Amino acid sequence: MSRKLVVLHIDGLSAGALRRAIDDGRMPFVRQLLDGEGYEIHPYRCGIPSTTPFAQAGILYGDNSEIPSFRWWDRDRRVLVQFGAGSTFKKVADKYFQGCDPLTRDGACIAACYPAEAADDFGIAYQDRTYGQQKGSRSAFGVLLPYLANPAHLGDWVWQTAAVLARTVKDYAVARSEGRRPARAYVVTDVVEESFVHHLTRYAVQKAMREGFSPIYAGFYAFDETAHAFGPTDVSSQSVLRHVDHTIRKIAGSRGDRYEMVVLSDHGQVDTIPFATAAGRAFGDVIASLLPGFRVQEMKGKAYGASEKEARGHVHVTLSGGLSHVYFAERQTRMDYAEVGSRHPELAPGVSSLQEVGLVMARRAGEDVFLRSGRELQGNAVDAVLAAYGEPEVLRQQLSRLNSFGAAGDLVVFGAFQDGTQVNFENQAGGHGSIGGDQLHPFVLAKKEWRIDTSHVRGAHELHPILCNLRDYLRTT
Ligand SMILES: [Zn+2]
Repeated sequence: MSRKLVVLHIDGLSAGALRRAIDDGRMPFVRQLLDGEGYEIHPYRCGIPSTTPFAQAGILYGDNSEIPSFRWWDRDRRVLVQFGAGSTFKKVADKYFQGCDPLTRDGACIAACYPAEAADDFGIAYQDRTYGQQKGSRSAFGVLLPYLANPAHLGDWVWQTAAVLARTVKDYAVARSEGRRPARAYVVTDVVEESFVHHLTRYAVQKAMREGFSPIYAGFYAFDETAHAFGPTDVSSQSVLRHVDHTIRKIAGSRGDRYEMVVLSDHGQVDTIPFATAAGRAFGDVIASLLPGFRVQEMKGKAYGASEKEARGHVHVTLSGGLSHVYFAERQTRMDYAEVGSRHPELAPGVSSLQEVGLVMARRAGEDVFLRSGRELQGNAVDAVLAAYGEPEVLRQQLSRLNSFGAAGDLVVFGAFQDGTQVNFENQAGGHGSIGGDQLHPFVLAKKEWRIDTSHVRGAHELHPILCNLRDYLRTT
Protein backbone atom coordinates (compact mmCIF):
# COMPACT_ATOMS: atom_id res chain seq x y z
CA MET A 1 0.00 0.00 0.00
CA SER A 2 1.35 3.38 -1.00
CA ARG A 3 1.94 5.70 1.92
CA LYS A 4 2.20 9.45 2.21
CA LEU A 5 4.73 11.50 4.16
CA VAL A 6 4.34 14.34 6.65
CA VAL A 7 7.49 16.10 7.90
CA LEU A 8 7.37 18.35 10.99
CA HIS A 9 10.18 20.87 11.28
CA ILE A 10 10.79 21.93 14.90
CA ASP A 11 12.94 25.00 14.61
CA GLY A 12 16.05 25.45 16.72
CA LEU A 13 15.88 22.18 18.69
CA SER A 14 19.21 20.35 18.81
CA ALA A 15 19.55 16.58 19.14
CA GLY A 16 21.02 17.15 22.61
CA ALA A 17 18.15 19.38 23.74
CA LEU A 18 15.63 16.87 22.39
CA ARG A 19 17.28 14.04 24.36
CA ARG A 20 17.34 16.12 27.54
CA ALA A 21 13.66 17.06 27.13
CA ILE A 22 12.74 13.39 26.69
CA ASP A 23 14.82 12.38 29.74
CA ASP A 24 13.20 15.14 31.82
CA GLY A 25 9.72 13.92 30.89
CA ARG A 26 8.81 17.04 28.90
CA MET A 27 8.13 15.18 25.68
CA PRO A 28 6.18 12.09 26.71
CA PHE A 29 4.74 11.49 23.25
CA VAL A 30 8.16 11.53 21.58
CA ARG A 31 9.30 9.02 24.21
CA GLN A 32 6.34 6.87 23.23
CA LEU A 33 7.44 7.08 19.58
CA LEU A 34 10.91 5.86 20.60
CA ASP A 35 9.77 3.15 22.98
CA GLY A 36 6.62 1.93 21.27
CA GLU A 37 6.69 2.83 17.58
CA GLY A 38 10.24 1.96 16.62
CA TYR A 39 11.47 5.53 16.11
CA GLU A 40 15.07 6.57 16.69
CA ILE A 41 16.94 9.86 16.90
CA HIS A 42 19.44 10.44 14.08
CA PRO A 43 21.69 13.41 14.83
CA TYR A 44 23.05 15.14 11.75
CA ARG A 45 25.24 18.18 11.01
CA CYS A 46 23.42 21.18 9.54
CA GLY A 47 26.58 22.93 8.33
CA ILE A 48 27.47 26.62 8.57
CA PRO A 49 25.66 29.01 8.86
CA SER A 50 23.49 27.17 11.39
CA THR A 51 20.40 29.15 10.50
CA THR A 52 16.92 28.36 9.16
CA PRO A 53 17.10 29.86 5.63
CA PHE A 54 20.31 27.90 4.97
CA ALA A 55 19.24 24.61 6.54
CA GLN A 56 15.69 24.66 5.18
CA ALA A 57 16.89 25.43 1.64
CA GLY A 58 19.18 22.43 1.96
CA ILE A 59 16.41 20.14 3.20
CA LEU A 60 13.76 21.29 0.72
CA TYR A 61 15.85 21.85 -2.44
CA GLY A 62 19.12 20.02 -1.83
CA ASP A 63 20.91 23.27 -2.57
CA ASN A 64 21.72 25.97 -0.03
CA SER A 65 24.69 27.56 -1.72
CA GLU A 66 24.94 31.37 -1.62
CA ILE A 67 22.83 31.59 1.54
CA PRO A 68 25.57 32.85 3.86
CA SER A 69 23.42 33.85 6.83
CA PHE A 70 19.93 34.73 8.08
CA ARG A 71 20.49 38.15 6.46
CA TRP A 72 23.08 39.29 3.96
CA TRP A 73 23.93 42.03 1.48
CA ASP A 74 23.34 41.21 -2.18
CA ARG A 75 26.08 43.22 -3.85
CA ASP A 76 24.80 43.38 -7.40
CA ARG A 77 21.10 43.98 -6.59
CA ARG A 78 22.12 46.27 -3.71
CA VAL A 79 19.54 44.72 -1.44
CA LEU A 80 19.64 43.59 2.17
CA VAL A 81 18.25 40.07 1.94
CA GLN A 82 16.44 38.93 5.03
CA PHE A 83 13.70 36.62 6.20
CA GLY A 84 11.09 37.09 8.89
CA ALA A 85 8.78 40.09 8.95
CA GLY A 86 9.38 42.13 5.80
CA SER A 87 11.22 39.34 4.00
CA THR A 88 13.15 40.60 0.98
CA PHE A 89 14.23 37.22 -0.35
CA LYS A 90 11.78 37.60 -3.25
CA LYS A 91 14.00 40.36 -4.66
CA VAL A 92 16.76 37.83 -5.30
CA ALA A 93 14.76 34.58 -5.43
CA ASP A 94 15.25 34.21 -9.21
CA LYS A 95 18.97 33.54 -8.59
CA TYR A 96 18.25 30.50 -6.44
CA PHE A 97 17.21 26.86 -6.78
CA GLN A 98 17.32 26.66 -10.59
CA GLY A 99 17.09 23.05 -11.72
CA CYS A 100 16.47 21.67 -8.22
CA ASP A 101 14.06 18.86 -7.47
CA PRO A 102 12.23 20.02 -4.31
CA LEU A 103 11.20 17.55 -1.63
CA THR A 104 7.67 18.96 -1.55
CA ARG A 105 6.99 19.19 -5.29
CA ASP A 106 3.19 18.91 -5.71
CA GLY A 107 2.78 18.49 -1.95
CA ALA A 108 2.10 21.07 0.76
CA CYS A 109 4.78 23.33 2.25
CA ILE A 110 3.38 25.14 5.27
CA ALA A 111 5.06 28.02 7.14
CA ALA A 112 8.39 27.47 5.39
CA CYS A 113 10.89 30.07 4.14
CA TYR A 114 10.44 28.96 0.55
CA PRO A 115 7.53 27.77 -1.62
CA ALA A 116 9.54 24.69 -2.73
CA GLU A 117 7.22 24.08 -5.71
CA ALA A 118 4.51 22.78 -3.42
CA ALA A 119 0.95 22.73 -4.73
CA ASP A 120 -0.23 24.62 -1.67
CA ASP A 121 1.12 26.41 1.40
CA PHE A 122 -2.28 26.84 3.08
CA GLY A 123 -1.67 30.57 3.11
CA ILE A 124 0.98 30.44 5.83
CA ALA A 125 4.49 31.56 4.93
CA TYR A 126 7.51 31.71 7.25
CA GLN A 127 6.99 34.71 9.56
CA ASP A 128 5.73 36.56 6.58
CA ARG A 129 2.17 37.32 7.55
CA THR A 130 1.16 38.58 4.16
CA TYR A 131 -0.57 35.26 3.51
CA GLY A 132 -1.14 33.73 0.18
CA GLN A 133 1.05 35.56 -2.34
CA GLN A 134 2.86 32.57 -3.75
CA LYS A 135 1.68 30.67 -6.75
CA GLY A 136 -0.27 27.68 -5.45
CA SER A 137 -1.14 29.41 -2.21
CA ARG A 138 -4.72 29.47 -1.02
CA SER A 139 -5.97 32.69 0.47
CA ALA A 140 -5.60 33.07 4.19
CA PHE A 141 -9.37 32.88 4.49
CA GLY A 142 -9.32 29.36 3.14
CA VAL A 143 -7.55 28.30 6.31
CA LEU A 144 -8.39 31.02 8.80
CA LEU A 145 -12.16 31.05 8.41
CA PRO A 146 -12.82 27.36 9.05
CA TYR A 147 -10.23 27.50 11.84
CA LEU A 148 -11.79 30.48 13.56
CA ALA A 149 -15.32 29.29 12.88
CA ASN A 150 -14.75 26.27 15.08
CA PRO A 151 -15.14 27.29 18.74
CA ALA A 152 -13.00 24.35 19.81
CA HIS A 153 -10.01 25.75 17.90
CA LEU A 154 -10.59 29.20 19.18
CA GLY A 155 -10.74 27.94 22.74
CA ASP A 156 -7.59 25.92 22.25
CA TRP A 157 -5.69 28.87 20.91
CA VAL A 158 -7.00 31.49 23.30
CA TRP A 159 -6.34 29.37 26.38
CA GLN A 160 -2.94 28.15 25.33
CA THR A 161 -1.88 31.63 24.30
CA ALA A 162 -3.15 33.08 27.56
CA ALA A 163 -1.23 30.38 29.44
CA VAL A 164 1.96 30.96 27.46
CA LEU A 165 1.64 34.71 27.76
CA ALA A 166 1.03 34.66 31.51
CA ARG A 167 4.01 32.39 31.99
CA THR A 168 6.17 34.53 29.72
CA VAL A 169 5.37 37.71 31.63
CA LYS A 170 6.15 35.93 34.89
CA ASP A 171 9.39 34.46 33.51
CA TYR A 172 10.36 37.88 32.24
CA ALA A 173 9.80 39.42 35.66
CA VAL A 174 11.78 36.66 37.37
CA ALA A 175 14.60 36.90 34.84
CA ARG A 176 14.79 40.66 35.38
CA SER A 177 14.78 40.35 39.15
CA GLU A 178 17.67 37.90 38.92
CA GLY A 179 19.61 40.42 36.88
CA ARG A 180 19.29 38.53 33.60
CA ARG A 181 18.03 40.45 30.62
CA PRO A 182 15.82 38.55 28.23
CA ALA A 183 15.73 40.13 24.82
CA ARG A 184 12.68 42.33 25.32
CA ALA A 185 11.87 42.70 21.64
CA TYR A 186 11.18 39.01 21.40
CA VAL A 187 9.09 38.63 24.44
CA VAL A 188 5.45 39.53 24.07
CA THR A 189 4.53 40.09 20.45
CA ASP A 190 6.46 37.14 19.16
CA VAL A 191 5.17 34.77 21.79
CA VAL A 192 1.54 35.64 21.03
CA GLU A 193 2.12 35.54 17.31
CA GLU A 194 4.03 32.27 17.47
CA SER A 195 1.36 30.64 19.61
CA PHE A 196 -1.31 31.60 17.13
CA VAL A 197 0.71 30.63 14.08
CA HIS A 198 1.78 27.38 15.77
CA HIS A 199 -1.88 26.42 16.23
CA LEU A 200 -2.83 27.57 12.77
CA THR A 201 0.03 25.58 11.27
CA ARG A 202 -1.01 22.47 13.18
CA TYR A 203 -4.56 22.93 11.90
CA ALA A 204 -3.28 23.43 8.34
CA VAL A 205 -1.23 20.22 8.54
CA GLN A 206 -4.29 18.25 9.61
CA LYS A 207 -6.30 19.86 6.83
CA ALA A 208 -3.57 19.02 4.30
CA MET A 209 -3.68 15.42 5.50
CA ARG A 210 -7.44 15.28 5.14
CA GLU A 211 -7.03 16.60 1.60
CA GLY A 212 -4.41 13.94 0.85
CA PHE A 213 -1.36 16.10 0.05
CA SER A 214 2.04 14.41 0.08
CA PRO A 215 4.62 15.16 1.09
CA ILE A 216 3.59 17.74 3.67
CA TYR A 217 6.35 19.86 5.22
CA ALA A 218 5.47 22.22 8.07
CA GLY A 219 7.60 24.57 10.18
CA PHE A 220 7.00 25.17 13.90
CA TYR A 221 8.98 28.08 15.34
CA ALA A 222 7.69 28.65 18.88
CA PHE A 223 10.63 26.86 20.55
CA ASP A 224 13.22 28.81 18.55
CA GLU A 225 11.50 32.13 19.32
CA THR A 226 11.24 31.43 23.04
CA ALA A 227 14.82 30.15 23.19
CA HIS A 228 16.03 33.39 21.55
CA ALA A 229 14.22 35.37 24.22
CA PHE A 230 15.20 33.33 27.29
CA GLY A 231 17.94 30.89 26.26
CA PRO A 232 17.49 27.28 25.15
CA THR A 233 17.88 25.79 28.64
CA ASP A 234 15.54 28.27 30.35
CA VAL A 235 12.33 26.93 31.92
CA SER A 236 10.10 28.88 29.49
CA SER A 237 11.81 27.32 26.48
CA GLN A 238 11.53 23.92 28.12
CA SER A 239 7.82 24.46 28.73
CA VAL A 240 7.24 25.25 25.07
CA LEU A 241 8.53 21.76 24.29
CA ARG A 242 5.47 20.37 26.09
CA HIS A 243 3.30 22.22 23.54
CA VAL A 244 5.49 20.96 20.72
CA ASP A 245 5.12 17.41 22.04
CA HIS A 246 1.34 17.92 22.20
CA THR A 247 1.33 19.11 18.57
CA ILE A 248 3.33 16.08 17.43
CA ARG A 249 0.83 13.88 19.29
CA LYS A 250 -2.16 15.61 17.65
CA ILE A 251 -0.72 15.30 14.15
CA ALA A 252 0.40 11.72 14.73
CA GLY A 253 -3.15 10.99 15.86
CA SER A 254 -4.47 12.13 12.46
CA ARG A 255 -2.09 9.91 10.47
CA GLY A 256 -4.46 7.01 9.96
CA ASP A 257 -2.80 4.26 7.96
CA ARG A 258 -2.05 6.52 5.00
CA TYR A 259 0.62 8.81 6.45
CA GLU A 260 4.07 8.22 7.89
CA MET A 261 5.61 10.97 10.00
CA VAL A 262 9.14 12.33 10.30
CA VAL A 263 10.04 14.99 12.87
CA LEU A 264 13.24 16.96 12.31
CA SER A 265 15.01 20.15 13.25
CA ASP A 266 17.21 22.49 11.23
CA HIS A 267 19.80 23.64 13.79
CA GLY A 268 20.17 23.94 17.56
CA GLN A 269 20.63 26.87 19.91
CA VAL A 270 23.22 27.80 22.52
CA ASP A 271 23.16 30.25 25.42
CA THR A 272 24.50 33.61 24.36
CA ILE A 273 25.80 36.89 25.66
CA PRO A 274 25.24 39.89 23.38
CA PHE A 275 28.41 41.37 21.86
CA ALA A 276 27.49 44.87 23.05
CA THR A 277 27.16 43.62 26.65
CA ALA A 278 30.45 41.70 26.54
CA ALA A 279 32.47 44.37 24.73
CA GLY A 280 30.76 47.45 26.14
CA ARG A 281 30.10 48.82 22.65
CA ALA A 282 28.31 47.83 19.47
CA PHE A 283 30.09 45.72 16.86
CA GLY A 284 29.43 48.38 14.19
CA ASP A 285 31.10 50.95 16.45
CA VAL A 286 34.21 48.74 16.71
CA ILE A 287 34.37 48.36 12.92
CA ALA A 288 33.96 52.12 12.49
CA SER A 289 36.90 52.77 14.82
CA LEU A 290 39.08 50.50 12.67
CA LEU A 291 37.98 52.23 9.44
CA PRO A 292 38.34 55.99 9.91
CA GLY A 293 36.23 57.98 7.47
CA PHE A 294 33.83 55.14 6.71
CA ARG A 295 30.17 55.04 7.60
CA VAL A 296 29.35 51.65 9.10
CA GLN A 297 25.72 50.55 9.00
CA GLU A 298 24.62 47.65 11.15
CA MET A 299 21.84 46.15 9.10
CA LYS A 300 18.89 46.04 11.52
CA GLY A 301 20.84 48.35 13.84
CA LYS A 302 22.44 51.78 14.04
CA ALA A 303 25.03 53.57 11.90
CA TYR A 304 28.49 54.48 13.23
CA GLY A 305 31.51 56.47 12.08
CA ALA A 306 31.48 59.25 9.51
CA SER A 307 28.29 61.10 8.64
CA GLU A 308 26.49 60.31 5.42
CA LYS A 309 27.84 63.52 3.84
CA GLU A 310 31.46 63.06 4.81
CA ALA A 311 31.82 59.30 4.40
CA ARG A 312 34.62 58.14 2.08
CA GLY A 313 32.89 54.78 1.82
CA HIS A 314 30.15 52.62 3.29
CA VAL A 315 30.39 49.36 5.17
CA HIS A 316 27.38 47.14 5.81
CA VAL A 317 27.52 44.73 8.71
CA THR A 318 24.87 42.01 8.74
CA LEU A 319 24.40 40.53 12.19
CA SER A 320 22.91 37.03 12.43
CA GLY A 321 23.26 35.39 15.83
CA GLY A 322 26.90 34.48 16.45
CA LEU A 323 27.85 35.25 12.85
CA SER A 324 28.52 38.58 11.23
CA HIS A 325 29.39 39.49 7.63
CA VAL A 326 31.28 42.70 6.86
CA TYR A 327 30.76 44.16 3.37
CA PHE A 328 32.41 47.10 1.67
CA ALA A 329 29.13 48.28 0.21
CA GLU A 330 30.37 50.08 -2.90
CA ARG A 331 31.86 46.85 -4.27
CA GLN A 332 30.08 44.73 -6.87
CA THR A 333 31.94 41.53 -6.02
CA ARG A 334 33.56 40.03 -2.96
CA MET A 335 36.91 41.59 -2.13
CA ASP A 336 40.01 39.43 -2.11
CA TYR A 337 41.77 39.40 1.25
CA ALA A 338 45.01 40.62 -0.37
CA GLU A 339 43.16 43.82 -1.23
CA VAL A 340 41.37 44.12 2.13
CA GLY A 341 44.75 43.69 3.83
CA SER A 342 46.57 46.25 1.73
CA ARG A 343 43.82 48.89 1.81
CA HIS A 344 42.82 48.42 5.44
CA PRO A 345 45.73 46.72 7.21
CA GLU A 346 44.27 47.37 10.68
CA LEU A 347 40.84 45.90 10.04
CA ALA A 348 41.02 42.09 10.10
CA PRO A 349 43.83 41.90 12.72
CA GLY A 350 41.92 44.44 14.84
CA VAL A 351 38.63 42.51 14.70
CA SER A 352 40.34 39.17 15.31
CA SER A 353 42.16 40.50 18.38
CA LEU A 354 38.87 41.26 20.18
CA GLN A 355 38.22 38.94 23.08
CA GLU A 356 34.61 38.62 21.94
CA VAL A 357 35.62 37.29 18.51
CA GLY A 358 36.55 33.63 18.05
CA LEU A 359 37.59 33.65 14.42
CA VAL A 360 37.74 35.88 11.35
CA MET A 361 37.55 34.29 7.90
CA ALA A 362 38.40 35.76 4.49
CA ARG A 363 39.44 34.49 1.08
CA ARG A 364 42.68 35.14 -0.78
CA ALA A 365 43.23 33.83 -4.33
CA GLY A 366 40.62 31.12 -3.79
CA GLU A 367 42.15 29.96 -0.49
CA ASP A 368 40.73 30.23 3.02
CA VAL A 369 42.34 32.73 5.37
CA PHE A 370 41.69 32.51 9.12
CA LEU A 371 42.70 35.05 11.73
CA ARG A 372 42.69 34.94 15.48
CA SER A 373 44.27 37.17 18.14
CA GLY A 374 45.47 39.64 15.53
CA ARG A 375 47.34 37.10 13.40
CA GLU A 376 46.79 34.87 10.42
CA LEU A 377 46.64 31.22 11.42
CA GLN A 378 48.84 28.81 9.49
CA GLY A 379 48.53 25.07 8.99
CA ASN A 380 47.79 23.10 12.14
CA ALA A 381 47.06 26.25 14.11
CA VAL A 382 43.64 26.42 12.39
CA ASP A 383 42.71 22.92 13.54
CA ALA A 384 43.94 23.68 17.04
CA VAL A 385 41.53 26.65 17.23
CA LEU A 386 38.63 24.73 15.65
CA ALA A 387 39.02 21.86 18.12
CA ALA A 388 37.31 24.06 20.72
CA TYR A 389 34.18 24.18 18.51
CA GLY A 390 33.85 20.55 17.40
CA GLU A 391 35.47 18.18 14.90
CA PRO A 392 38.20 20.32 13.23
CA GLU A 393 38.25 18.44 9.94
CA VAL A 394 34.45 18.68 9.55
CA LEU A 395 34.33 22.32 10.62
CA ARG A 396 37.08 23.20 8.17
CA GLN A 397 35.11 21.71 5.33
CA GLN A 398 31.89 23.45 6.42
CA LEU A 399 33.66 26.79 6.84
CA SER A 400 35.37 26.41 3.50
CA ARG A 401 32.02 25.90 1.81
CA LEU A 402 30.59 29.08 3.36
CA ASN A 403 33.78 30.88 2.39
CA SER A 404 33.32 29.83 -1.23
CA PHE A 405 30.03 31.79 -1.46
CA GLY A 406 30.27 35.00 -3.45
CA ALA A 407 27.48 36.35 -1.20
CA ALA A 408 29.63 36.04 1.94
CA GLY A 409 31.08 39.19 3.49
CA ASP A 410 34.54 40.50 2.65
CA LEU A 411 35.22 39.44 6.22
CA VAL A 412 33.21 36.77 8.02
CA VAL A 413 33.31 37.07 11.79
CA PHE A 414 32.42 34.40 14.37
CA GLY A 415 31.62 35.28 17.98
CA ALA A 416 33.80 33.73 20.67
CA PHE A 417 32.45 30.56 22.24
CA GLN A 418 33.42 29.76 25.79
CA ASP A 419 32.07 27.17 28.22
CA GLY A 420 28.90 26.69 26.18
CA THR A 421 28.17 30.41 25.85
CA GLN A 422 28.46 32.21 22.55
CA VAL A 423 29.09 35.89 21.99
CA ASN A 424 26.10 36.85 19.88
CA PHE A 425 25.90 39.85 17.55
CA GLU A 426 22.17 40.24 18.13
CA ASN A 427 20.56 41.06 21.47
CA GLN A 428 19.32 37.58 22.33
CA ALA A 429 19.65 35.24 25.30
CA GLY A 430 19.87 32.20 23.00
CA GLY A 431 21.29 32.10 19.51
CA HIS A 432 22.71 30.19 16.57
CA GLY A 433 24.13 30.81 13.10
CA SER A 434 27.74 30.28 14.12
CA ILE A 435 29.99 27.43 15.25
CA GLY A 436 30.24 25.68 18.60
CA GLY A 437 28.10 23.41 20.74
CA ASP A 438 24.54 22.29 20.07
CA GLN A 439 23.80 24.84 17.32
CA LEU A 440 25.43 22.65 14.64
CA HIS A 441 23.72 19.42 15.71
CA PRO A 442 20.01 19.04 14.84
CA PHE A 443 18.20 15.71 14.45
CA VAL A 444 15.88 13.58 12.36
CA LEU A 445 13.39 11.43 14.25
CA ALA A 446 12.48 8.53 11.98
CA LYS A 447 11.54 4.86 12.13
CA LYS A 448 14.40 2.37 12.43
CA GLU A 449 12.90 0.20 9.72
CA TRP A 450 13.51 2.97 7.16
CA ARG A 451 17.25 2.55 7.77
CA ILE A 452 18.20 6.12 7.14
CA ASP A 453 21.82 7.01 7.85
CA THR A 454 22.69 10.60 8.67
CA SER A 455 26.15 9.93 10.13
CA HIS A 456 27.93 11.21 7.03
CA VAL A 457 25.74 14.33 6.61
CA ARG A 458 27.85 17.49 6.94
CA GLY A 459 25.29 19.97 5.66
CA ALA A 460 21.48 20.10 5.56
CA HIS A 461 21.60 19.84 1.74
CA GLU A 462 22.87 16.27 2.18
CA LEU A 463 19.68 15.42 4.05
CA HIS A 464 17.62 16.19 0.95
CA PRO A 465 18.38 12.98 -0.98
CA ILE A 466 17.78 10.91 2.17
CA LEU A 467 14.30 12.40 2.62
CA CYS A 468 13.49 12.21 -1.10
CA ASN A 469 14.44 8.52 -1.07
CA LEU A 470 12.18 7.95 1.94
CA ARG A 471 9.32 9.81 0.22
CA ASP A 472 9.72 7.65 -2.90
CA TYR A 473 10.14 4.43 -0.91
CA LEU A 474 6.90 5.10 0.99
CA ARG A 475 5.10 5.85 -2.25
CA THR A 476 5.95 2.44 -3.67
CA THR A 477 5.65 0.15 -0.63
ZN1 LIG B 1 16.41 31.25 15.33
